[in-house]
Amino acid sequence: MRIVISIAAMQRQARQWQRAGKRIGFVPTMGYLHAGHLSLVKRARQAVGKSGIVVTSIYVNPTQFGPKEDFPRYPRDLRRDLKLCREAGVDVVFTPSDKEMYPQVGSSRCDDRTAQRAVPTQFSTYIVEEKLSKVMEGASRPTHFRGVTTVVAKLFNIVLPDVAVFGAKDWQQATIIKHMVADLNFPVKIIVAPTLRERDGLAMSSRNKYLEGDLRRQATVLWRAIQAARFAIRKFPVPQHRLKAQLKQLIESEPDAKLDYVEFFNSETLVPVSTVRFQIHMALAVFVGKTRLIDNGRL
Ligand code: AMP
Repeated sequence: MRIVISIAAMQRQARQWQRAGKRIGFVPTMGYLHAGHLSLVKRARQAVGKSGIVVTSIYVNPTQFGPKEDFPRYPRDLRRDLKLCREAGVDVVFTPSDKEMYPQVGSSRCDDRTAQRAVPTQFSTYIVEEKLSKVMEGASRPTHFRGVTTVVAKLFNIVLPDVAVFGAKDWQQATIIKHMVADLNFPVKIIVAPTLRERDGLAMSSRNKYLEGDLRRQATVLWRAIQAARFAIRKFPVPQHRLKAQLKQLIESEPDAKLDYVEFFNSETLVPVSTVRFQIHMALAVFVGKTRLIDNGRL
């Protein structure tokens, strides 16, 4: 497995593969890998075949964090990540520094910086999706998707993938990326792979590391809320406001859980529905202690 840290080297390598007719499958991540990430690697391998190339990027992107968010303490363990990638059959790990991705930052060290200071001051070109990114995560985290679409576009220009795999765990993100690719004609096929869960239903996430003591148990309330919604609509459609009130009560019956939002919407357009029925998509964000968790599912 090759580890690449320079953009120029990654692009050179990708062009060589293109010339050799090899298909490139790409899995962008922020590292601290878990089985959910590795399932995307497996899906990418499936898509490009044995003769294809699987590239995983590990990069905690400062521009997608708000100034008061967890960028400085986001979990990192590159040595462990590289071992997991090697075992999963990744061909290349692209793990650039902040200085490489946003040269104007001036430093690759991001451990003790605030997210705001880590965001480059001279970097001035962003990709902004103007519709789907306004709701849910975008409403709670106003500059988040601008950072996501910008870094994903940069990574696509660096890795030159034929296919890229994203997790359904971040449903809105995957939907926005699909739209970006269609709107801006990136020659990349987007695959959305299912959410991997712990045995008790908690969606796997690097941020689960923050859940100490009883918070880990309380965090299963997101999954329980999705199941409760499925149960509530099993016979008849239910008005969204009634289901929201019911789920808020369920969630906040946990002592340290606070609902940020729960929404019911069309899975492709993200347009909210007034009546919740079978096959409507649900997404929610919940603070469990200080940790903000998200989950979603089709009802
Ligand atoms: P992250 O490292 O959190 O930015 O996630 C990198 C990719 O892994 C994104 O496409 C996520 O949607 C995906 N992902 C994260 N958690 C899971 C999970 N539990 N199951 C499947 N995919 C996931």
